[in-house]
Amino acid sequence: MRNIVFIAPPAAGKGTQAAILKDKFNIAHISTGDLLREEVKKGTKLGNELSEQMKSGKLISDEIVTELLKKRLLENDTNNGYILDGYPRNISQAETLDTLLSDINKPIDYVIYLDIDSETAMKRACGRLQCNNCGKIYNKYFDESKPKSENMCDECNITLTHRADDNEDSFKVRFETFMESTKPLIDFYKSRNLLYTVDSSISKEYTSEQINKVLNK
Ligand code: AMP
Repeated sequence: MRNIVFIAPPAAGKGTQAAILKDKFNIAHISTGDLLREEVKKGTKLGNELSEQMKSGKLISDEIVTELLKKRLLENDTNNGYILDGYPRNISQAETLDTLLSDINKPIDYVIYLDIDSETAMKRACGRLQCNNCGKIYNKYFDESKPKSENMCDECNITLTHRADDNEDSFKVRFETFMESTKPLIDFYKSRNLLYTVDSSISKEYTSEQINKVLNK
């Protein structure tokens, strides 16, 4: 089975790599960041509160995120496998996840840590642009991922958007939160022989090749 968890600092490329795996293996891509952004789009009171916290780079409470994840895991597309992109973010979430996955009998097969230095990740975050129609991600600072015409999606020809939390201040908070709360998960999963580390600082293609090697072992 391909039940995969990504652990990565902000802007390491987990969304990009998850989208590649989703298409390749026909498995569910579950991004808790996307689930939260959908709540924000609804414009409810909860959505507005989430929006403020996410903009500042802080984590959302375990209860709210876990509730969204729990519902999403029950959808049928996880029967063929899943990629969790953005959950767990701390040890408490990892313990909750164990229970959720054991209840539905879909245990984790691989935990992939996308390793990247903070300078490269910061440049990726601050230059990141996304198409809200097809989801394609571009970067204005890297020639290989720039859109052909400035700020426009190559495929859909609509204006690209910049995530509210992809700015320097928010990035710093997100990176620190990763180091403090999320990085301890590396030892947590290493001790269970589930952890694989992949260098995510070189290119999207290189990272993807390394992930494929892990999954074909
Ligand atoms: P991401 O799209 O994974 O970069 O997540 C964007 C933001 O959503 C994070 O900076 C957090 O504010 C929030 N978020 C996403 N996943 C989680 C999670 N598992 N626990 C708490 N907050 C989360």
